[in-house]
This record gives sequence, structure tokens and C-alpha cells, in this order.
Amino acid sequence: MPESLIKRRGLMLVLSSPSGAGKSTIARALLEREDELYLSISLTSRPPRPGEEEGRDYFFVTEEEYQQKVKDNELLEHACVFSNYYGTPRTLVERHLSAGEDVLFDIDWQGTQQLRESARDDVISIFILPPSYNELEKRLTGRGQDSEDVVNKRMAKAADEMSHWPEYDYVIVNDVIEESIQNVQAILKAERLRRMRRLGLGDFVNSIRSKG
Ligand code: 5GP
Repeated sequence: MPESLIKRRGLMLVLSSPSGAGKSTIARALLEREDELYLSISLTSRPPRPGEEEGRDYFFVTEEEYQQKVKDNELLEHACVFSNYYGTPRTLVERHLSAGEDVLFDIDWQGTQQLRESARDDVISIFILPPSYNELEKRLTGRGQDSEDVVNKRMAKAADEMSHWPEYDYVIVNDVIEESIQNVQAILKAERLRRMRRLGLGDFVNSIRSKG
């Protein structure tokens, strides 16, 4: 039987990084290259940036709508990041996981902690670092979508954010983007092969131990 046909449980692949470390580029490439990997679209109370689309980048909600979803337990995790609210809608994620598909999360360290608490064995977390302070500053300024004040605030926040690297399973220094993408793919490949996730292994082994 081909390896890929053995039934397995879906996993939750979490990418976190300070803004500007290249996380979105890595996430986009992964989604293009990997079958059975789906992006969890978060909701946020912040307004859309130019070019961002409802339902593709985020679900944009009011603070009241957000609070209601928290109250109704519709979010798998939620956090306040840079004075805006963010959260992961529960339903879609659960649907993918139970179908044996993997879900990619672009969330901060607070959300990662919450996911780990609620689903420890299913969460694989990767922290992405920029190659240097100067490069991070360049990437944040180069994006050109935020005011100088916001950029400065983010540089300060990045230092805070990066202090959480030891809480992650893997850390990737994103210097050469292609290399980083391939490293994440390698992690995903190995984690998919973990025995405990491969629900169909028992039956498969039985089938090759005796004639069916
Ligand atoms: P941005 O506003 O630049 O898109 O995202 C700011 C930060 O919020 C990023 O670090 C991003 O990973 C994080 N973030 C986005 N969505 C969520 C979410 O649903 N939950 C949590 N905890 N963080 C999120």
C-alpha cells in the first residue's frame, strides 16, 4: 500500500514570528506546494490594509462581533495583538482535522500557547526569526503600508515577541527564503510520519502479518 494512503490524524502547523520576518511568504509557498494543508483564516477587529480581502486574508469584524464570538466559544484561541483583537474560528479547523487534513496557522505566541494547552499532541509550532536586526528593520520599513510610528512600535514589539522563541518546537532563521520554505516542508513531512498520528498503521501491519 502506498505510504500516503495509510489513514492519519491531521496536525496543526503553527507559524509565529515578529512582523517582517517573512512568515507570510513562507506560509503562501507552503500552501501552494503542499496538498492536504489548509490555512486557518483568522478574524480580526483591525481594519483591512490595502490589498487585503475579506475571507482570504482575514474575516474583518467589529470589536462587538469579536467579543460575542469569544462569549459563544466560537474561537479556538484568541488574543489581543498590537491593540487589535484576533481569533481563530473553531468550526473549519475541526472539520479539516477530522478529515485527516493539516491546518496552517499564522498566529502569535499567545494563540500558540492556547492551542498547545487545548491540543498538545496535535500542535507543531515553528518560530521564524529574521537574520539580523538591520534586516528586520529594512523589511518592516520596506513594506511601506504602515506609518513610521507603527513601524517603530513594531520594532519594539518584535523584541518582545522574539523572547518567546524557546516555547516553540522548531526555530528557523529566515535568511534565504527558499531554504526556509524547504525546512518547514521537511518538518511537516517528518511530523506527518509520526507513528502516533498514523491511525491506519495498526490495520496495515495486521494486513501484512497474515493473509487477509
Ligand atoms: P497583522 O495585523 O500584521 O496581520 O498580524 C499581527 C499579528 O497577529 C501577527 O503576529 C499574526 O501572527 C497575529 N495573528 C493573526 N491572526 C491571529 C489569530 O487568529 N490569533 C492570534 N493569537 N494571533 C493572530
